[in-house]
Amino acid sequence: MAALVAVAPAVAELLQAEVARSFSKWSPTKRLHWEPGGQVSGGPVLPKNRHVPERSCVACGAKMPKAQLVRVAQTSQGPITVDVAGRGPGRGAYLCRIPDCWGRAISKGALDRSFKKDLSSQDLESVRTYYETNIAPQTKAP
Ligand SMILES: [Zn+2]
Repeated sequence: MAALVAVAPAVAELLQAEVARSFSKWSPTKRLHWEPGGQVSGGPVLPKNRHVPERSCVACGAKMPKAQLVRVAQTSQGPITVDVAGRGPGRGAYLCRIPDCWGRAISKGALDRSFKKDLSSQDLESVRTYYETNIAPQTKAP
């Protein structure tokens, strides 16, 4: 920094003024302290994803972090399928892991309401298959 100031003091000053101004613009209330060199101190160290995104189950309405819900997604014009990774394109609906909710989603139209259309039997079949292998209580035959 010192070398930079020696070489171009006017530019460095302008730069600092600009940074200070934009900083006070986006964070007028937080008492963070900007230090030359770009370090922000005075606040807690922010992890990348401090905010946990929450979604509601389309059947019971319970709100919880996305990671605890199963995403059912419809890509444009595509079929509706369970989006296991949870980050596919298209419109998504979320279901919690309570079997009742899946029953409601599949047979009582909770998913149809969420997607604002009638799910085809193919769509329902892929959701049902996921439900049966991952959500439904596994009854093992003796
Ligand atoms: Zn639910």
